[in-house]
Amino acid sequence: MKKRISILGATGSIGRSTLDLVERSPERFEVVALTAQKNVKALADAARRTDAKLAVIAEGSLLQDLRDSLDGSDCRAEAGPDALIEAAAGDADFVMAAIVGCAGLMPTMAAIEAGKTVALANKEALVTAGSLMTDAAKRNGATLLPVDSEHNAIFQCLAGSRLSDVARLVLTASGGPFLGLSVEQMRVATPQQAVAHPRWSMGAKISVDSATLMNKGLELIEAHHLFGLPSERIDVVVHPQSVVHSLVEFVDGSLLAQLGSADMRIPIAYTLAWPERMETPAQRLSLAEIGRLDFEAPDLTRFPSLRLAREALEAGGGEAIVLNAANEIAVEAFLRGTIGFCDIAALVDEALGRIPSRAPGSVEEVVAIDRETRERASLMVSESCC
Ligand code: NAD
Ligand code: MG
Repeated sequence: MKKRISILGATGSIGRSTLDLVERSPERFEVVALTAQKNVKALADAARRTDAKLAVIAEGSLLQDLRDSLDGSDCRAEAGPDALIEAAAGDADFVMAAIVGCAGLMPTMAAIEAGKTVALANKEALVTAGSLMTDAAKRNGATLLPVDSEHNAIFQCLAGSRLSDVARLVLTASGGPFLGLSVEQMRVATPQQAVAHPRWSMGAKISVDSATLMNKGLELIEAHHLFGLPSERIDVVVHPQSVVHSLVEFVDGSLLAQLGSADMRIPIAYTLAWPERMETPAQRLSLAEIGRLDFEAPDLTRFPSLRLAREALEAGGGEAIVLNAANEIAVEAFLRGTIGFCDIAALVDEALGRIPSRAPGSVEEVVAIDRETRERASLMVSESCC
C-alpha cells in the first residue's frame, strides 16, 4: 500500500528535497496535500506533478492566483490558517513539517493531535512548545521522526538501544561560514556572506542561524525534547567537514556515529521509509578521499548564541520561546540590512533580560509569548538602528 503524505512548506529547501524523493518513488508514495506561504507557481507546479488532492497557500490574498494556476486539475486550492490545519490533519498517514519558524507550530500540532507520523524539520516548533508537543504525541499516538540531520543521526544511532544505556548525546556543528573569523570581521559581515554556508544548501533563516551558531543552540533544545536528556548530557562539538552528523555515547564508553554526505535527502529518506530504508541519489562518501575528520570545542565568546540557548534551556520556563522569537526577528532584520551580524545575539540577549517569561501551559500561551516577544523585539530593532 502506498504511504499517503502531506508536505507543509513544500516549496522550501526541505520541502523540495522531500518532493524530489517522493517523485522518484511514485510506487511508494501518494501525495495528499502541499502547502506554501506565497510561492503560487512552485506550489501549483508541484501539485500538478504529484497529483496532489489539496494545495494550500498561507497568504489569503493569493487564493485566486492559486485557483487560476490549478485550473483544469483535480487539485483543490485553499488559503489561510484553517486550510493549513486541514492540510496537516487531513487524510495523510505521514506529514512532513517543514515550515520555517514558529509559523509552523499550529499546523505541526494539528498533525500531532490527529495522530499522524510527523517528520519534524520545523525545529522552532519543538523549541517553543517542546513538552506540549511530545505530550500531545504520546496522548494521540502520533510518532515524531526527526528530520534535522543531527537528530536523525542520533535517532539512527539509538535504534535498538535503551535510552537508559545512553550516557550523552554529541551534536556536531559545522561551525558555519564564519568559523575562523574574529568578532571584528563578523561585525561587518553581510547577509550574502552569512547565507553562503560552506557545506549545506538551506533556506536563508537557518543559514544565518548556522553562522551565529544559534542553529546549534536551537538543536540542543530540540535534542532535549526529542530524546529526554538534560542539558548537561548533550554536548556540542565543531566538526567543519559535516561528515559525522552526530554521535551517541553509551554507558560502556562506546560512541556510535552516523556518517554521510551533507545532503538532507538522506535524513529525509530515513523518515519517509521508516522503519525501512529507501534508496537516495545522495553522493556516497569516500573516506579515503576525505582523509581526515577534525573536531574542536565551540567558542562561546565569539558565538554567544549557543551559550544563550543553553541558558534558556536550563532556565526551563518560557525562555526558549523568547530566545526563538527574538532570534527570528533579529535574523529578519539582519537579512533586510537593518542590523549587523553581531547585533543578532545582542538583541536576543537583551530580549531575554527584558521580557518576562513564564512556562506555557498550552500552545495558545506559547503563541501569546511568541507574539509579545516579536512586538518587543521589533521595537528593540527600531531603537537600535535609529
Ligand atoms: P525555507 O525557507 O527554504 O522554506 C520554508 C517553507 O515554509 C517554504 O515552503 C515557505 O513557503 C513556508 N513558510 C514560510 N513562512 C510561512 C508561513 N508564515 N506560513 C506558512 N508557510 C510558511 O526553509 P528550510 O530551509 O526548508 O527549513 C524549513 C525548516 O526545516 C526550518 O525550521 C529549518 O530550521 C528546518 N531544517 C532545515 C534544514 C535544511 O537543510 N534546509 C535542515 C534541518 C532543519
Ligand atoms: Mg541540523
